[in-house]
Amino acid sequence: MDRVALVTGAARGIGQVIATALAEPGMTVYINDVAHWDEAAETQKGVEAKGGAARLIEFDVTDAAAAEQAVERIVKESGRLDILVNNAGITRDNLIMRMKEEDWDLVLAVNLKGAYHCIKAASRPMIKQRWGRIINISSVVGVMGNAGQANYSASKAGLIGLTKTVARELASRHITVNAVAPGFIISEMTGSLPEKVKEQMLAQIPLNRFGTAEEVAFAVAFLASEQAAYITGQVIHVNGGMLMA
Ligand code: NAD
Repeated sequence: MDRVALVTGAARGIGQVIATALAEPGMTVYINDVAHWDEAAETQKGVEAKGGAARLIEFDVTDAAAAEQAVERIVKESGRLDILVNNAGITRDNLIMRMKEEDWDLVLAVNLKGAYHCIKAASRPMIKQRWGRIINISSVVGVMGNAGQANYSASKAGLIGLTKTVARELASRHITVNAVAPGFIISEMTGSLPEKVKEQMLAQIPLNRFGTAEEVAFAVAFLASEQAAYITGQVIHVNGGMLMA
């Protein structure tokens, strides 16, 4: 059966690899972002190389009306929306005493409210179809906390509560809702950290290495599959054993 997926923040990084991992013949992947269009062209190529169809769809997940219009466009063009991956995310780190209100608001707006906007819009076609997969990209720090990331860890913890509640609301329509919580993953976000910080981070990881975007994407693709139909409201941790929840 042909399927249609939307991955937010998929121009680069983990989202790019998730979009590619979902791709297969019969799958149309909508690649959302607000920036990094050169890299989005690479995402598009990656999807097509695996036999999927790729479409770019620009909208800011913080904008409720834009998210709704995007879903309307997808359904008009492709007839359905089966898989939503809420991957768009940002950091604005600082210790709580120095954290500016605008940085708190922006991180919550993108990471948590953005997912709410997209889920709300996507749930309509999914309910009609009586089939859907929603996967929210949380983080290990949403469960453990992390000094300097009050806004980010609150947003990622919030995503877990959102996941569990929407999972209960949509279960009767055969829509599963799960979260994937990556640990430290090799990416733009972690690439810019000082060596000393990286060493300290590695010391906390039993598998003694950072994870790859592919390892996160594999968990997402599994949750999006037909075979994962009996898994809902769960958090899959992909963290090298750093947290055993
Ligand atoms: P990244 O910065 O490489 O990619 C995030 C993408 O989201 C960017 O292309 C960005 O333009 C896009 N984006 C930002 N704001 C947006 C908005 N308002 N609307 C639409 N798109 C927007 O980051 P990444 O490391 O690939 O992270 C992807 C996800 O994984 C994030 O949710 C992040 O919190 C989560 N995560 C990352 C790590 C890690 O170690 N890198 C660990 C745990 C969780």
